[in-house]
Amino acid sequence: MPELPEVESTVRSLRKEVLGKTFVGGWQESGKDWVERAKGKKVVNIERVGKNILLLLDDGYTMLVHLRMTGYLLLGNWKYKDNEWIAEEKDLEERSNRFLRFILFLDDGRSLALSDARKFAKVSFISRKEERDLRRNLGPDPFSLSKKDFLSLLKGKKREIKPLLMDQSFLAGIGNIYASEILFKAKINPKKKSYLLNEEEIESIYCHMKDILEKAIELKGDSTSDYRLTDGSKGGYQERHLVYKREGLPCFDCHSRIKRSTVGNRGTYFCPKCQKL
Ligand SMILES: [Zn+2]
Repeated sequence: MPELPEVESTVRSLRKEVLGKTFVGGWQESGKDWVERAKGKKVVNIERVGKNILLLLDDGYTMLVHLRMTGYLLLGNWKYKDNEWIAEEKDLEERSNRFLRFILFLDDGRSLALSDARKFAKVSFISRKEERDLRRNLGPDPFSLSKKDFLSLLKGKKREIKPLLMDQSFLAGIGNIYASEILFKAKINPKKKSYLLNEEEIESIYCHMKDILEKAIELKGDSTSDYRLTDGSKGGYQERHLVYKREGLPCFDCHSRIKRSTVGNRGTYFCPKCQKL
């Protein structure tokens, strides 16, 4: 599932290529009204809120895209041929980029499209009030959080640390991949109860969280799963995993075998020696 770095990478390219443009039409899967809602509207701002992509339109509504499991946005040119939309750019031709749910035409001749193999991505047009509610229901963004804020945020929380880091109402943007990687770097067991963490451990989580998310943005996200950049190519963070999807492989620090277990209903990767409970 795309997390903060993947969504941030997408938003950065959308800002370059979609900001200030107007939607002039498009195609969509049946039963939806996205093209009608977007048509004639100019994109006046583009923001990331947690894992949500917000395209603010000049009619006072916001096009909200949450990529969920397998969704990602693409930018390019598509032509309708033999009952199928065919991309003109080579990277977009890849089979994985063909699960299109909408193609929205922009006034510069390019298009914004959503590829989503499992169709869980959420697209909606929300009012400014609904947008405020969305923000209110999400925890702070890791990048707008000071070390002091993070310490006080964790104070009084009694849950296991990994599910807590992934809880969007606690902190917005982190999911399974980055939570696993952050806790490995901080040498903390994913099951450790948050109230048992000392100040030094909390600071370590905080620092590694920032470092890892920054590095992942620099590498334009993680394409372990379906996620692609807006040009259809892969991000680079999947080459950097220390524990995620490395079950049975040696730990880079102590050479013990990386284990997989279930924490908070999610598959979790950790080193049993470096991350003792
Ligand atoms: Zn280890």
